[in-house]
Amino acid sequence: MGFLYLPPFRVQGISVAGEEAVVQLPELDVAFDIGLCPRPVLSSKTIALSHAHMDHIAGLPYWFSQRSFQQQPPGRVVCHHAIAGAIDRMMQSWVDLEQQRTPYEVVSLAPGQSTPLGRDRELHAIEVPHTVPALGYCVTERRRKLRPEFANIPSSQIRALRERGEEITHDVEIPLVAYTGDTAPGDHLLQDGFKRAKILVVECTFFLAEHYDRAGKGKHLHIRDIERYLGHWEAEDVVLVHLSRRTPLPLAREVVADVAQGRRVHLLMDGRTNRARYDAQLAAAGQPKESRSAEPTEAPAESAAEAPAGTE
Ligand SMILES: [Zn+2]
Ligand SMILES: [Zn+2]
Repeated sequence: MGFLYLPPFRVQGISVAGEEAVVQLPELDVAFDIGLCPRPVLSSKTIALSHAHMDHIAGLPYWFSQRSFQQQPPGRVVCHHAIAGAIDRMMQSWVDLEQQRTPYEVVSLAPGQSTPLGRDRELHAIEVPHTVPALGYCVTERRRKLRPEFANIPSSQIRALRERGEEITHDVEIPLVAYTGDTAPGDHLLQDGFKRAKILVVECTFFLAEHYDRAGKGKHLHIRDIERYLGHWEAEDVVLVHLSRRTPLPLAREVVADVAQGRRVHLLMDGRTNRARYDAQLAAAGQPKESRSAEPTEAPAESAAEAPAGTE
């Protein structure tokens, strides 16, 4: 699994275009998409599904089933309202196939709607253009803040106002993390949920100049699109996912460093760079390096395979 520690959140998962996309934020109890089902993802109670291409949804029935098998509470999937019925029918087919009923919950969202994600947090659906109905998501947190008009008055006065029953605070929604899912470029990438999130996980399927047309046909993003939007995004960390295997990782590293211009832009599947970064974080915190049994996988490597556009 790719791994990044972006305090206070871990961002972990596997995301390779056409093969498998799953990005988990354990601290938020959510995973975006579930192309297959890596074991750690069983611990999150919600899957926020971007769309139903196989590389994003194939692990879903297995995830429901394993949660049940391990006696965890039923999982829930949040999805675009246009595909909720089909997901229900898929789960019904599993009842017919297995002759047993796996508990599951489908939360159907129209673009612009939201659903609670634990206490004080909300998962918002943002419609994005792709070759099938698709959503991006933003997780916000409600925080109680002092009203701006009371910001510069002494605390004794604040206390007095509160005792008089004056409404001195208001709720603000802080966008924590956003996930674009697969998407064509466009102004939707500049709307608040994506623009203001502290961590933005964004697909970037293509890197090579000759693949720009291919990105357009499959309604995916190219690194040149990321370059165009980066200046508008306020994210402290931008995490690129869904790279095609056609992109050699060393090239992706180089291009990202060039595009980032000092901003923190990460490649989720760049195991080597992310491990060195995490070791440095541990060292800075006075912790020993973690011993790891396996070498990180350098997932997006060269491959001659040319998948047809529009199926990822
Ligand atoms: Zn797709
Ligand atoms: Zn995909």
